[in-house]
Amino acid sequence: MERYDYTTKRLFTDADLQAGGAVEAGREQANYLLNVLRMREGDPILLFNARDGEWLARVVPQGRKACMLVPEKQTREQPAPADLLYCFAPLKSARLDYMVQKAVEMGAGVLQPVITQYTQVHRLNLERMRANAVEAAEQCGILAIPRVGEPVTLEAMLKDWDNGRALVHCDESAADGDAIELLRPLAGKPLGVLVGPEGGFSPAERERLRGFAATVAIPLGPRILRADTAAVAALAVMQAAAGDWRPVGGAR
Ligand code: SAM
Repeated sequence: MERYDYTTKRLFTDADLQAGGAVEAGREQANYLLNVLRMREGDPILLFNARDGEWLARVVPQGRKACMLVPEKQTREQPAPADLLYCFAPLKSARLDYMVQKAVEMGAGVLQPVITQYTQVHRLNLERMRANAVEAAEQCGILAIPRVGEPVTLEAMLKDWDNGRALVHCDESAADGDAIELLRPLAGKPLGVLVGPEGGFSPAERERLRGFAATVAIPLGPRILRADTAAVAALAVMQAAAGDWRPVGGAR
């Protein structure tokens, strides 16, 4: 498992990154670095822009409210974006913030809101979701920022689904399956996962998903989980059984 510097503060920037090419910190970023973290001239920081990999840079204060960040050397190459497609029925704001951050930390590459029959939230602040994705990436060292999709209906999602990608349906009525055994054969294949809203899937939706060729229905244990808990549980069991938590090339 690649281990990287996860102690030095990491910051996302839209600017291009190259040795010596000074980047101006945003106002809030400058305030955070200079007045919250109390960083001084020459202190190290890691910069990434989701294009040029990760760079070790130095802080160069410009007074108390502005600072430049000067990249010195690339510390990690830009990886390909994660391929895991995380489909979810949107939740109310605080739980949605949490769910977006956890899905990013757990390795989702695309965050796809899906409007189902019992979805309670229909107006989504995609900018807020994107900001949460960036914050989660800064905190956990991810260098590719997951894409946030425009909301789609469940039917539209299924119509456009690439059948080469498994659709792991977290189905609380699939009580008798063994999630690990169901997921292991998917190792190395393109994966998608679908978690329903707080009110669950309607019988008609469950029927539709059961009859869908790419569906692999999995239980997440004997208890009903809140949708944001189910997000973490589903992504954990998928990454462990079939995703990037498995040792690369090692024995399983
Ligand atoms: N339909 C449930 C009910 O009202 O009894 C509630 C749905 S649960 C709060 C939200 C979503 O989390 C579900 O649609 C499902 O995708 C997932 N989920 C929760 N518990 C689960 C479990 N034990 N097995 C599989 N999926 C689960």
